[in-house]
Amino acid sequence: MTTILVTGGAGYIGSHTVIELINSGFRVIVVDNLVNASYDSISRVEYIVKKKVIFYEIDLRDSEKLSKVFDKYKIDAVIHFAGLKAVGESTKIPLEYFDNNVGGTISLLKVMKQHDVKNIVFSSSATVYGDATRFKDMIPIPEKCPTGPTNPYGHTKLVIEGIMRDIYASDNKWRIALLRYFNPIGAHQSGLIGEDPTGIPNNLLPFLAQVAIGRRQKLNVFGNDYDSHDGTPIRDYIHVVDLAKGHIAALSYLANLKPKEGICREWNLGTGKGSTVFDIYHSFCKAVGHDLPYEIVGRRSGDVLNLTACVTRANEELKWKAKLTVDDACRDLWNWTTKNPQGFATPHYHIADHLYGEQRIHDVIFENFKFSVANVGATIVDVEVNGHPVVCNFQRLSDYAAKENPYFGATIGRVANRLPGAKIVIEGHTYDIDANEGKNSLHGGSHGFNSKYFFGPVTSYDSKAEAVILKFVDFDSDGSNGYPGDLNTYVSYIVTPHSYKIEYESSLDSSSKSPVTVVNLTNHSYFHLSDESNINETDFKLYTNKCIDTDTSLLPTGTISKLTQPKVMEKFRLGSNAFDNCFVLSDDVESLDTRKLKAKKALEVSNSKSNLQLKVYTTEPAFQLYTGDEIAVKNYGKRSGFAVETSRFLGAATFEKWQRQVILHKGDLYGASTTYVFS
Ligand code: NAD
Repeated sequence: MTTILVTGGAGYIGSHTVIELINSGFRVIVVDNLVNASYDSISRVEYIVKKKVIFYEIDLRDSEKLSKVFDKYKIDAVIHFAGLKAVGESTKIPLEYFDNNVGGTISLLKVMKQHDVKNIVFSSSATVYGDATRFKDMIPIPEKCPTGPTNPYGHTKLVIEGIMRDIYASDNKWRIALLRYFNPIGAHQSGLIGEDPTGIPNNLLPFLAQVAIGRRQKLNVFGNDYDSHDGTPIRDYIHVVDLAKGHIAALSYLANLKPKEGICREWNLGTGKGSTVFDIYHSFCKAVGHDLPYEIVGRRSGDVLNLTACVTRANEELKWKAKLTVDDACRDLWNWTTKNPQGFATPHYHIADHLYGEQRIHDVIFENFKFSVANVGATIVDVEVNGHPVVCNFQRLSDYAAKENPYFGATIGRVANRLPGAKIVIEGHTYDIDANEGKNSLHGGSHGFNSKYFFGPVTSYDSKAEAVILKFVDFDSDGSNGYPGDLNTYVSYIVTPHSYKIEYESSLDSSSKSPVTVVNLTNHSYFHLSDESNINETDFKLYTNKCIDTDTSLLPTGTISKLTQPKVMEKFRLGSNAFDNCFVLSDDVESLDTRKLKAKKALEVSNSKSNLQLKVYTTEPAFQLYTGDEIAVKNYGKRSGFAVETSRFLGAATFEKWQRQVILHKGDLYGASTTYVFS
């Protein structure tokens, strides 16, 4: 079994399971209608595993659309999380629960049958047992405990289990694992994904987390007169990552059955250890670092003393055991909560509904400023100031892949600009780099960063700075375009109501065989500050006149000289002046992580017709100013825009005297920061 379709994979348990699946080498396809989840969890899963997750926004009940997914991929097994899960809500809208949970499952099972996919792991629940204390000797609860759910949600789970048993009885080729979860808690250790309840949380720990960050006043403890060590009821809490691993164990169990052997069997997934409400409370307070307010109120109807799982069957048959503790879960939950006080929601950030095909666009929208990025190339696909579009872009993402695209908005790497002879010599070793411009290499080679899918973004909001932060990551493997070393690169966009800052950070992966590589990154946006067809009427002011000399092929000669025109800090109309020059802002050839340095102003550009102004500040020692004289692509011609590509020196990778700017050893950080301010 290699390709797994995960229904509800954008949800709490689903997203954690997708990570475990990918880390175990499975290919994953997620189907989720996002009724109780956000696409951000998928973006973040991709960011964590640095792999693409195939995602379809489909309601399971739409069997036509679902069927197309099964037509497209050879699916080996399904893990079926999708469903509504709020017990209280289910008592108010039972029909919707049956329609969604049972209806969705029937649709799924029919499509699976049509496509001869007969392996399924189903998210059932300990709720199917109801009050197991009604029997003698059923605590801890074994799978043989008679069922008896006490609410519509639990009924839907039991009905689905029944349907699956009947299917197996009709065709015993089916392999069906019914996993009855106890109480999943905690979050991923990265702090990037976790439970994001809408409204008032039903469960103890999400509620406590909201008390801890001030979203709720206090915890209500429902009764302290039970027969437990502290008077509060006992439940079995399982870390969501352990639970996720239980699904891999179940898949592997199904895969290892004898050929032609089928099964439909229940397994409890819990820890087998009970914790009281106060045990959990104290553990979470320990994680937070102080006590949290609570009040003892009367017992809640339907609550019973002890619902702990007997997990012998899962331990023995699935060879799976929960390893993480309640303390681990509380620590991870608190980490997730503090990093994401509003869950996945980030003010001003939206995933755009203009999807550009299967890809998503990430928009940051302030009153007078819009900033949009796509995953491929972490490309800036739109910037709008007071409603004026100020960057060259395409309406369809596929156009970015066109040969004539002069790198509109893209991240350029590993090495921006021209590499003479498509060669680098690092510490005596010569590396042949992909030659994509005659004998030379331009902007990283034929498959440079501009064409790579960047994972993420992880979004966050800095309320003090009123800034939305979008962080992407790329993993570039050893040998990519000829460059040595496995390289991780983070691209962050820090967007405020009138500016954006781009931060780059690269380092060699700890697993990289090569201890060294070379990095020089930039962004290749083309700006135009008015609606005019060219930038000739635009005014420039440069804060340097030092330039790196180039030969007639625009290749660096290794020397720096001063231009006589334009004068430093003197405003000039661009007119027929054409630039494709690398300007030098600083003689610093030592700093690999320039983010530590004070940003310098590189240039100011303005247009008197639109009254728009752009100022560029950077910690980088140089920038290429290109006036777009070669642009010839859909809707854009010569001089449609200008690029300000802040970077290391042109030729830094070639000339030994400058190489310290770009040579990256294992353990070192490459960093750069550039801010574009509009007014
Ligand atoms: P969740 O709500 O976070 O995830 C469920 C996902 O299913 C959501 O992303 C939702 O958008 C999606 N979904 C719902 N209906 C759908 C439909 N018709 N088509 C496509 N997608 C749909 O919940 P979770 O906590 O991750 O739970 C996952 C599964 O585990 C559920 O079936 C739930 O009943 C079961 N379960 C959960 C718990 C728990 O405490 N979290 C306990 C026992 C069992």
